[in-house]
Amino acid sequence: MTGQRPTTFYIRTYGCQMNKYDSEIVAGILEEQGLREVSTPEAADVVLINTCSVREHAEQRVLGYLEQLRPLKAARAGQRLAVIGCMAERLGSRLLEAKPFVDLAVGPDRYRELPRLLGLGDGNAELSGEAETYEGIWPSHRKGVSAWVAVMRGCDNFCSYCIVPYVRGRERSRPAESVLEEVRRLAAEGFVEVNLLGQNVNSYHDGRHDFADLLLLVADVEGIRRVRFATSHPKDLSEKLIEAIASHPNICPHIHLPVQSGSDRILERMNRRYTRSQYLRLVERIRARIPEVALTTDIIVGFPGETREDFEQTRSLVEEVQFDGAFVFRYSVRQGTAAAQLEDDVPELEKIARLEELNRLQKKISLRRNRAYVGRKVEVLVEGPNRKRPGQFVGRTDTNKIVVFSPSVPIEAGSFVRLRIVEATAHTLFGELEAEQGPPRVACLTEQNPDAQPWER
Ligand code: SF4
Repeated sequence: MTGQRPTTFYIRTYGCQMNKYDSEIVAGILEEQGLREVSTPEAADVVLINTCSVREHAEQRVLGYLEQLRPLKAARAGQRLAVIGCMAERLGSRLLEAKPFVDLAVGPDRYRELPRLLGLGDGNAELSGEAETYEGIWPSHRKGVSAWVAVMRGCDNFCSYCIVPYVRGRERSRPAESVLEEVRRLAAEGFVEVNLLGQNVNSYHDGRHDFADLLLLVADVEGIRRVRFATSHPKDLSEKLIEAIASHPNICPHIHLPVQSGSDRILERMNRRYTRSQYLRLVERIRARIPEVALTTDIIVGFPGETREDFEQTRSLVEEVQFDGAFVFRYSVRQGTAAAQLEDDVPELEKIARLEELNRLQKKISLRRNRAYVGRKVEVLVEGPNRKRPGQFVGRTDTNKIVVFSPSVPIEAGSFVRLRIVEATAHTLFGELEAEQGPPRVACLTEQNPDAQPWER
């Protein structure tokens, strides 16, 4: 396609849910220019790799994939290769120097410039930059029953281990009316569940509405049966927000509330701006007002200076809170963050041992909490057939528990069914059909993403 206007594009996405949403934004921008998405890089005039910088390993995977693309690009004359996302922002021209066959490196706040950079037209580049919220751009949402909607971008928290504030810039919120317009469009397309997304979603404020206000507005959109949100910072989870969840049946009682450590000393070094006891009191308040709530968390083990005693504090917090699920990560240095100045002094084998110990503990707790569902009746949003086991279907409770069941006739994705839970493992509930509720809403099936965090799937 040398010298010709590109007509097709391919996007591969690494990293978090925000990146997946951004890929839908980029697809929306390119489709607006008349390009069509294809499913392989070989068939594409423009190949975009949406990258993640949150861990060293994520960047290494991207660099490896770029090398795989190199011969494909050489074989397809005129193909343009763009690296977008956090890694493009972090490395910029250094990336182009290291991989000269890459044509563009475009950070997360400059996607409106893509049409111009790809020679397609002007786009809306004058709106691009640090204040970018992609207001007025309609993402090309992947088909399914549940959609993500970014309501704010960036982060001001500067947790000492985290690269996000450096690659995604200062926190900014999208006007509530723009969020509502996107949610209404989603409902019209047949989506029944929306997940409001932000790096620090509960500090949302558009000048008029805080996050609790926004949740309530979204919960009232006709056709939206469930509203979820991620990710919450414990210091910003207000009583008003707890009340909103408690008082609205279609706001799902699941809160992902990263604690990161149970040691005050380490929390301070992480710049998390809450203490162990403040976190525990918050959990108490949430459970007092929303008794059925499911709580999940993120934990980092082996942060610089974490002693065995600090780790024991984390272990005891996990015992005390009894999370429904926890995602445990080994600390790894990100250059440019404040923690990179600290000595990474916990030996790798010790980090692995702490991670495995916490995972074993959490698995027992998850199993106990899931077993408490056995005998209960729950409402489940059907996501589609279990592709590994014909005849089985997969859905989710409002508490984000995955439920597997075997109906006598196929059930369409988007239907709500009542199931009696008959069995449980640490990760899955098994149910029997009681009665279907309401007409099926959409016929398409949800893609299960094997790389997603369990609460994102
Ligand atoms: S709250 Fe902390 S961990 Fe989360 S994105 Fe912001 S700086 Fe990173």
